[in-house]
Amino acid sequence: MTTPIAFDNSFVRDLPGMYERWEAATAPVPQLLALNEGLACDLGIDADWLRSAEGVDVLVGNTVPDGAEPVAQDYAGHQFGGYSPRLGDGRALLLGEVVGPSGDRHDLHLKGSGRTPFARGGDGLAAVGPMLREYLMCEAMHALGIPTTRALAVVATGESVRRDTMLPGAVFVRVASSHLRVGSFQYAASLDDPGVLAALLDHAIARHHQGAADAEVPALAFLDAVMEAQAELIARWMNVGFVHGVMNTDNVTISGETIDFGPCAFMDVYDPTTVFSSIDHGGRYAYGNQPSIGQWNLARLAEPLLPLIDTDVDAAVERATDLLRTFPDRYRHHLVSGQAAKLGLDADRTDVGGLAGDLLALMQSRSADFTLTWRSLSDVVRGDADPFHERVGGDEEATDWLDRFRAAHAGSDGSARPDVAAAIDAANPLHVPRNHLVEAALSAGAEGDLSPFEELMDVLADPFTERPGLERFSEPAPDAFAAGYQTFCGT
Ligand code: AMP
Ligand code: MG
Repeated sequence: MTTPIAFDNSFVRDLPGMYERWEAATAPVPQLLALNEGLACDLGIDADWLRSAEGVDVLVGNTVPDGAEPVAQDYAGHQFGGYSPRLGDGRALLLGEVVGPSGDRHDLHLKGSGRTPFARGGDGLAAVGPMLREYLMCEAMHALGIPTTRALAVVATGESVRRDTMLPGAVFVRVASSHLRVGSFQYAASLDDPGVLAALLDHAIARHHQGAADAEVPALAFLDAVMEAQAELIARWMNVGFVHGVMNTDNVTISGETIDFGPCAFMDVYDPTTVFSSIDHGGRYAYGNQPSIGQWNLARLAEPLLPLIDTDVDAAVERATDLLRTFPDRYRHHLVSGQAAKLGLDADRTDVGGLAGDLLALMQSRSADFTLTWRSLSDVVRGDADPFHERVGGDEEATDWLDRFRAAHAGSDGSARPDVAAAIDAANPLHVPRNHLVEAALSAGAEGDLSPFEELMDVLADPFTERPGLERFSEPAPDAFAAGYQTFCGT
């Protein structure tokens, strides 16, 4: 059928051997639950058309639009440290790539669109609740300014999905700068044909890290660029209290976008051991482990690249290892520059890391809310320390820290610059997706009432601005809720 989507499918063109052509299962009664009109516009797709019966059929996978070449992508992955040589899209399809008015290329991807050759024991389906959850979380991340895959739509299929109970099914339509992952390289390297790995590297460099093409050793420069993107991404997660929850190598993008919002959640009380996922028994993907897991995942990317780094294995290992060792410093650089912004201080000051680290220690020992403690710093600068003390208490340790913070801000006349409070607000969100609000919005959504979901989306779209009447959206969860909160992978 002729559709107003301009597809140009470079992955299918460049990488035979990395996918299976496949089509989505038929959704009996598709119903559009959420549509991201702004994103549709950015992609050059007419939102009114997407809302039409024809458009919804495309979004749910019932019709293959003109120019699309749907495929299930091949990839491998280390899941909780254990290697699966062939995971692939078990319940998802890459519909094709869209080149929007700005010239940027984006994948259009369906999740929950039925079994594929990679489905193994899975049913290929997804339930409304987890798909609305992915929509909400990734759009919240985007509004926070953090690189992420985006949500174009959620369409209910009209079919039930069997989980613990029968649930309404849905397809999530995801937009990403690509779906290339660390696991894509692991898979390509396992094939007999070394040409696939080389083609994958060329494709990934052309799409994401063009600078690497002209380097002396493109594979090494590529590894360096992915490291930089991941170091920055994880630092940004840490600075908003985000716990991804399932940092398997199939969920680590080459682009540096956050992907696969399954069991992720934002931390309330600051505690580095925070884990939300029901299946993360060992705490492998706890909040505080994310930087070191990031480095571990990048070492898994280095392995398949070794033959392209140097024909001498020992030399290749040495060069890759030397590079990987730079990850902690690079991560810390991004973390501290983010912390400087959160403190309202210049990034080149030497006291930033110490001030931020001591504030975090204070939060931890007082079980203080991460988001609201950071946010209270703008009140301090405006002359009101009450919100700060409300979070961390008013004893000597807390006031000592406050004195240091004030001293760091004092200009020659002893007072802070007037624009600092606004700068601190711009770096410390007031609104993050609070777990109790997310759960309430999703349960209502799964029952057919989307108004709490839409209201929450509206708040999260502008997370840095205080707006009257929205106070309940910034409050932490009631203790009883927070104590037992667990998330699920949404399979
Ligand atoms: P994820 O945890 O979403 O990253 O998925 C890990 C792997 O399991 C991927 O290969 C998915 O395609 C596959 N998978 C997850 N859920 C299902 C399902 N319901 N049916 C088939 N495959 C699935
Ligand atoms: Mg995944």
